[in-house]
Amino acid sequence: DTNTAVAGLENTFAEELGELTVPWKGVPAPAPALLVLNEQLAADLGLSAEALRSEDGVAVLSGSAVPAGSTPVAMAYAGHQFGGYAPLLGDGRAMLLGELVDAGGRRVDLHLKGSGPTPFSRGGDGFAVVGPMLREYLVSEAMSALGIPTTRALSVVATGRDVRRNGAEPGAVLARVASSHLRVGTFEYAARQGEVLPRLADYAIARHYPELADLPATGDDNRYLRFFDAVVEAQASLVAKWMLIGFVHGVMNTDNTTVSGETIDYGPCAFVDAFDPGAVFSSIDRGGRYAFGNQPAVLTWNLARFAETLLPLLASTPDDAITAASAVLDTFDDRYDGHLTTGIAAKLGVAGIRIERALVDDLLTVMEESGADWTGSFRALADELRGDSAPLDRLVPRAAIGPWLERWNALLARQGRSPAEIADAMDRVNPLYIPRNHLVDAALRAATEGDLSLFGKLLEVVTQPFERRDEWSDYAVPAPRLFNESFQTFCGT
Ligand code: AMP
Ligand code: MG
Ligand code: MG
Repeated sequence: DTNTAVAGLENTFAEELGELTVPWKGVPAPAPALLVLNEQLAADLGLSAEALRSEDGVAVLSGSAVPAGSTPVAMAYAGHQFGGYAPLLGDGRAMLLGELVDAGGRRVDLHLKGSGPTPFSRGGDGFAVVGPMLREYLVSEAMSALGIPTTRALSVVATGRDVRRNGAEPGAVLARVASSHLRVGTFEYAARQGEVLPRLADYAIARHYPELADLPATGDDNRYLRFFDAVVEAQASLVAKWMLIGFVHGVMNTDNTTVSGETIDYGPCAFVDAFDPGAVFSSIDRGGRYAFGNQPAVLTWNLARFAETLLPLLASTPDDAITAASAVLDTFDDRYDGHLTTGIAAKLGVAGIRIERALVDDLLTVMEESGADWTGSFRALADELRGDSAPLDRLVPRAAIGPWLERWNALLARQGRSPAEIADAMDRVNPLYIPRNHLVDAALRAATEGDLSLFGKLLEVVTQPFERRDEWSDYAVPAPRLFNESFQTFCGT
C-alpha cells in the first residue's frame, strides 16, 4: 500500500547530483512513538499534522516507511574535522527523504537523523537517542524564534530500539527541515570528484542565490566568485548572531558549515551565560578550537577550505583564482564587525547613529570582567532607562559599568527618542529566555527517563523568547556558576 502521510516530495538533489548520493532506506523502528511534532512548521510546509500523527505518518518520521514519490538517499560529503581532512564522511545515520516546496515557494529538504546505518556509517551504529535529538529540536526551534537562521525541527519519534551509549538509551529519529543540506564538506567531496563540481555549484546557486544564476560562468564577475562572496556574507552575518546570543556551536567542522548560511547540527552546542570568549563545553574539544570567542576565526578558516574547492571555477589560472578568492575572504573581518556592531547597536537601543567600536569593546570588557549574565544585562539596561536600576545593580557593580553608562546615555540623548521608547525597542530585540544549559540538561534527562513535561514547558518558553511572563521568571535566571564550569556536551550521541 502507498504511504501518503507526506505528500508532494520532490527529489531534485538526488536527480541532478546522483553522484553525491546513495539510494537508501531507514531501518524499521520496532515500536515508533511520536514524542513531539511541530504543527506550525508542518502547516507552513503544507503538511497535515493529523496525517503526520497517524500510523503512516509516524512510520515516515521514524524512517520505517518511504512516502509515495520519495527516493530517499544518503548524501556523501567530506570535511575537515578539528582541522584534519576526512575524505569521506557523509550521512552515517541520516538520509534525505526529499524536498518540499513551502507556502512561500521556497524549496526545503526533509531529512531524517537517526534512521539507521548507511554506507557512510564508518564505525558508528547509525542510530541516535532521545536526549540529543530532543536537544536539536529544542535548540533549533529556540534559535529560529530568536531570528537566527537555522535548520528547523519537524518531529522526534522514539523508535522503541535500545541504543548503546552510556548503557542502553532509548533510540530516536529527528525529522529536520533545512533550506538544504549543502555543506562546505559537500563541496570538498565534489571537488575531488572533478566533473560534478560545476553542477553542484550551479545547483547551490539556483537554490540559495538565484539572483546570481544568470551571471556568466567565466570572467571577472563570474557567478562562482559571487557565490563564494554570498556565502561569506551569509556566514559572517550568522556567526555575528551566534556571538550576540551567546551560542557556542561546539563542532564547527567544515561538514557542519552550510552554504545557505543556516546553523546546522546541534550536537555539542551550548550557551554562555557570562560573556566568556574562552568558553568550551564539548568534551572532545580539548584544545578549545571551537571556543565561543574563536568562532569567527574558525569560520574564516572553514571558508578558506570552501574557497579551495571552488578555485577551478573562479578564474582561468590558479594564481588568478587564488587572488580573487583571497580578496573576497579578506572582506570577512569587516563584514563580521559590521554585523556585530549593527546587532549590538540594536541591543543597546542605538538606531541611525554609527556606534563607535570602543563603546562596544568597553562594554564587552565590563561584561567579561564582571561575569554578569549576558542575556539578562540587556534587559536590565532597558530597565535602567525606565528609571529602575535594581536589575542592573544585581548583575554588574555600578563602579564597573558607571562610566560606560554615561557614554551610552550621551549617545542615546542624540537620538531624539524618549528613554521609554528606546527601552521598548531594546526589549523587542533582547530575549528574556534562551535555552540555558542547566534547564536543557534537566529537561533532556527527564525526557530520556520518559517524562516529557519539562521539555514541553521549556520548549514553550524558549520559542517565545521576548514575551515576559511572571510565571516564567525561573527560565530567565543563569545556571548556578558551578554548573557551567563543569558542564560538558557530547558529539555524535
Ligand atoms: P556530526 O558530528 O554529528 O556532525 O557527525 C559527523 C559525522 O559522523 C557524520 O558523517 C555523521 O553521519 C557521523 N556520525 C555521527 N554519529 C554517528 C552514528 N551514531 N553512526 C554513524 N555515523 C555517525
Ligand atoms: Mg554534522
Ligand atoms: Mg550530527
